[in-house]
This record gives sequence, structure tokens and C-alpha cells, in this order.
Amino acid sequence: MLDSRLIAFVSLALCAAGCRTVPMTGRSQLMLSSSDSENSLGATAYSEYKQKSPPAKNAAQQQLLQRVGKAIAEASGETSFEWEFNVLQSDVVNAFCLPGGKVAVYTGIMPKFSNEAELACVVAHEVGHAIARHGGERQSWSYLQAAGSLGISLWGNDTAQTIYGIGSEYGVMLPYSRKHESEADLIGLYLMAKAGYDPHAAVSFWKRFGGGNSSVLDELMSTHPCDETRVADLSSHMAEAEKIYSKCASKRGLGVTLVNGIPQ
Ligand SMILES: [Zn+2]
Repeated sequence: MLDSRLIAFVSLALCAAGCRTVPMTGRSQLMLSSSDSENSLGATAYSEYKQKSPPAKNAAQQQLLQRVGKAIAEASGETSFEWEFNVLQSDVVNAFCLPGGKVAVYTGIMPKFSNEAELACVVAHEVGHAIARHGGERQSWSYLQAAGSLGISLWGNDTAQTIYGIGSEYGVMLPYSRKHESEADLIGLYLMAKAGYDPHAAVSFWKRFGGGNSSVLDELMSTHPCDETRVADLSSHMAEAEKIYSKCASKRGLGVTLVNGIPQ
């Protein structure tokens, strides 16, 4: 089984080959994939999503997302992305940011936001995944997983291969997915504050849709598990977020109010 010491050792050894520092959190991450290839895949996938769910016709919704997206993108300082923001027509309760800054918010999630800052909270979380290149990091670990599995299969021991497979999935991949969610929450919190949105809106949003209410946001929650720990983590970083918010020259507070997904 892969234990945390082995993971730490492997990470350290591989950092010589490919390592990157995550913006805003300073975490060191394994990175064996190139941002160019990730961004190109992101752009292709985004076109496919737009074909499947075309941009929504409500101009006020689109303008709102442009404003929020531009503010979050500027706060991220990521200038190599070709940012794009679209509200897409679909009942699916979800939002995402693909590598390269391709952001989509489905009309299905819009009614869940009571104000602009809550929309900013979700957009900033998704942008957090993209600027931290979580997809590339998971891809890097799966290269290793495949290489390790191939090595063991050449060695010719089926049991060892099974144990390796289970160990690498549960020892590396799953904890990484949880780590990525917490990191996207933290980056998202700082980004929304830097963009001038009241960071407390993040706590009120996740409190409302977390835990017992998670069925309300089924699609989003299936990839973004929400629980009391998440709210507690956000609250524990609120002092830092408030500091960032206080330095913002053009504060937007909670922004405009939304009723049934439509900005008022
Ligand atoms: Zn997430």
C-alpha cells in the first residue's frame, strides 16, 4: 500500500522532473502535463458543451456573468488564458471552468443564487480549479499510476498489481480529489474578495446548499461534496479573506439581487 511517507518521497523525487507551485496557496504540486495541451483540450471540450447546451438567450444573465467573470479573471492574474464566459441553457444544476479559462454556468443553477456575490463564489471556485491546474495534476498522477501498474505487470504478479491499483486509487487519487475541492474553495474565497465581492457570501451560499440540502444541488454536489467541514474551513480563512476584501478599491458588496435566476 502507498502510505503518506511514500507519497511524500515519490512527490519529492518527481519534483526534480516536473513540479509547480499553486497560485495563492503556494502548495507544491506534481505537474507532468503541459498547460498548452490542457488548454487545447479545454477549448475543444468547451465547443462541444456549447453545441450540446447553447448560450442562454437572457441578455441580463449573460451580462451579469460577463461582469462577474471579468472581475474574477482579473483577480486571478492569469493572463495566458483565453477567458470565455457563457450562461448555457440546461436544467443541469452545475457550473465549471475548463483549462484555459473556459467558464460555463448552466441556467439550472442560476435560481440558486440570491445575489451576484453568490454567483461570484461559484465562478471563483471553478476558476480556482483551473488556475491551480487540478486536471493536469490528476493527469500527472495517473501517468505515474499507469507506469507503476505496467512495471508490476511486467514483473508478473497479479496480486501485487491489484493491491497496487487499490492503493494508488485510494491512497493518492481520492485524497487528491478532496484536497483539490478544499483548495478550490480557498482560492475561490480569496479571488472573490480580491474582485470586490463580500467573502461572507461564500459561507452563506454553502451553508444553504450544503449538508441536508445537498439534494438541491445534486449535480454540483456529486463533483463538489459539501459538508460542515467545508463551511468550517471557509470560516477559518475568513479573517484573511476580509483583509484582502478591505484592500479592494472598488467594492461590490453582494452586488445585484437575483430573483429566479434573473438579475434585478
Ligand atoms: Zn470543485
